[in-house]
This record gives sequence, structure tokens and C-alpha cells, in this order.
Amino acid sequence: MAILTKLHALEILDSRGNPTLQVTAILDDGSVGTASVPSGASTGTHEALELRDNDAERYGGKGVLRALQNVEDVIAQSLKGKDVSEQQLVDKILIKLDGTANKSKLGANAILGASLAIAHANAKASKQELWQSIASQFGFANAGERFPTPMCNVINGGVHADSGLSFQEFMILPQQKDLPEQIRCGAEVFHALGAVIKGRAFSTLVGDEGGYAPRLRSNEEPLQLISEAVANAGYTLGQEVLLGMDAAASEFAKADGTYPLALEGKGLSADQLTALYLEWHEKYHLVSVEDGLAEDDWDHWPAHTKALAAKNMWVVGDDLFVTNVQRLQRGIDAQVGNAILIKLNQIGTLTETVEAIKLAQAHGYKVIVSHRSGETCDTTIADLAIAVGADAIKTGSLSRSERLAKYNRLLAIWRPTHA
Ligand code: PGA
Ligand code: ZN
Repeated sequence: MAILTKLHALEILDSRGNPTLQVTAILDDGSVGTASVPSGASTGTHEALELRDNDAERYGGKGVLRALQNVEDVIAQSLKGKDVSEQQLVDKILIKLDGTANKSKLGANAILGASLAIAHANAKASKQELWQSIASQFGFANAGERFPTPMCNVINGGVHADSGLSFQEFMILPQQKDLPEQIRCGAEVFHALGAVIKGRAFSTLVGDEGGYAPRLRSNEEPLQLISEAVANAGYTLGQEVLLGMDAAASEFAKADGTYPLALEGKGLSADQLTALYLEWHEKYHLVSVEDGLAEDDWDHWPAHTKALAAKNMWVVGDDLFVTNVQRLQRGIDAQVGNAILIKLNQIGTLTETVEAIKLAQAHGYKVIVSHRSGETCDTTIADLAIAVGADAIKTGSLSRSERLAKYNRLLAIWRPTHA
């Protein structure tokens, strides 16, 4: 038994200086759990609703006082005095309390804050690390045996920067055996890339996820610069380091089904865009493409998937699947994608997030647990990735403390399990 005695919320600021929620749960044995909710910029249309005040007088309308009230009044009232030791029952109550398909009544931010704060408190009460507690709550017997490969976003584009790049993220996937060596490789390549960019007299300022955001001349140039940096750092591209991209294509796709690349001044068809990824697979060891096409371009996703999967590439759905079992099931049925990005706040409770992960794993989809572009120093996703045995984790570049907090948490979990 773990009785919830208090649930309270704070309006705090995220890494972009926008308001977000921090929720704290206190149990009758004195256990305290706190979680902060992240926020996206290139949010998928089909995500659960992030409730904002829309009061133009405060934070440009981005305040979250209504969501805060929903935690402290509605949610607290229904859970206070109850046994919250079973996460699935707690989340069931939260889902019912909201009652809408997209959590628009209470807000997915309010619901997720409560769900995760309680998860943290329960871990404390059972004297377990969060990842162990999540694993036992949801039956992941092999938790801790496998660590996720970091996908480090070293060049930021799209809506995460004003670099002019159409594609949102250019990532390196270090292939060393152990996590500390992967993180070291990520940091060394990141710094080597800084030197390459500086040497070309471009800016080394960083974007929302801590990757460089230089104003380059083409959408291919990031891959060239990163390849050079990998070599300069003493690693072999294609063996020790592979590359990944998040095209976030929904952000630049046009209603007529074309994909304009602003720097190149041309519009590509879905098939041409797919051909470009394949070309970059050959040239730069690009092995993972996320949201390579737009979120509702269902007509072209099957051919895109088939073409990339034939090269053993990861075909990742983020805005496409939005951590939603219905969207993922549609993808499975239509043979769309072979990997899913997992973001807790796209769906709004820990239980639904784990359901999406389990459905993906049951169908052989790779699982990539992910941060949002607007983050805090909350490290829940590191624990989640280890609890479920995720294939990879996407938590930005090797700069900006809100990104490094997750890498550092992974290192802290890794050490005692590999002593
Ligand atoms: P977002 O970006 O958090 O702004 O949605 C991350 C991503 O698209 O993967
Ligand atoms: Zn994405």
C-alpha cells in the first residue's frame, strides 16, 4: 500500500524559457516523487493536447496555470487518500478523469506530471531506482541488461534553429560496446565538429537541442561536416560511428504533397526524397531516418519503408505514430516504419507509453525513447529507456545541461550494473 497524501504542482520554465509543469507527489510513508513535463516545438498534429492558458498577458499565452489547477484540484481530489502503488490503476483513473481521446480536458501536461510524479514516489517507497520500479510494475524481466545507443543530435535545423536547414536533426550513433565509450565518442565528435565548423568561419552557436546551428549552403553539408569531424576525432565512419537524421518532414511538407528544400530551391516528391535518403545512406552511412515523410502521407510511407528497410535502415515514426497504439497499429498493418520514437507527453501517461513500447517490441519495431526540444533537467526518460530495454535514446547533443542530465543519468545507472 502507498497512500497519496499530497499532489502539488509548480509552474516552472523549460530550456527555451517557456512555462511548464513540475509535479510532486507525497505518500503517507513520506516518500516524495517529482517530475517535470517537457514540451515540443515540432509537435505532431495527432499528439495529446498540451494545455496552455492562452492568456496573452502572461508568457505570451504559454502559461500553464490551468493545467496546474487541474493537478491540484481535479487530479489531487480524485487520488488523495487512495492507494497509488499500482501505476496502471493510477493511470486508468487519470485517463477516465479526463475522458477525452486527446486529453484535452485536463491537459496531457497535467496528467503526465501526475503520472510520473507518482511513479517516482512509488520507486522511492519501494526503495528501488526508478528504472527498476518501472520494470517491475510493467513486467520487463530483463531490465538493465541492455543499454540504449545514444543518438546525438549534433547539428540542429528545422524549427529548432534558424540555420535554414529543412531537416531538423543530424545525429551521430556511436557504435562502441559500452555506454561510457559511446558517450565519450559523442562528445569527442561534437567537439571536433565545433572545430570543423569554426574552421569554415561558420557560427558555433547551438540550437534548441544543443547541436550546432550554422547557416550552411545545402541540406547535405551537415553530413559532410559531420563525416569530417568523425575522422578528425579519430573514429571510422561506417564502423565506429553511424549517422541518423530526423527530417521532421511534416514541418516543411506542403499541402500538395511536395517537400520543398529551401536551401536547394527545389521541391521534391516523396519518392525523390526517399531516393535522397538512400543516396546519403551510401555516401555517409546514414542508417536511421525519422519522419522521413509527413505524418499523414500514408500513401507514400509503405514504399519509403520498403526502400530504406531493404538497406537495413531504421525507418522511424515520431509525428507519424505519436506514441499512440492506434497510430502504431495502423502502421504495423500497412507495413509502415520499423522503429518508433517514444515521447511520454505525446500520449500523456506512463502506462500508455509502455503499451506503445510493448506493441512495438511485439512486432519487431525498434524502440527509441526521446526527449523533447523543450526540456528540463528531469531524467525520467533515461530510466524509462533502461527499464524497457530500448534500442536507442534520443536526448540531444553533448551540450546544454538539460540534455546532459539524461546522459549523466544513464552513466549513473550504468556504473553499478557494470561494476
Ligand atoms: P520536438 O522535436 O520535441 O520539437 O517535437 C523532437 C523531435 O521531433 O524528435
Ligand atoms: Zn522527431
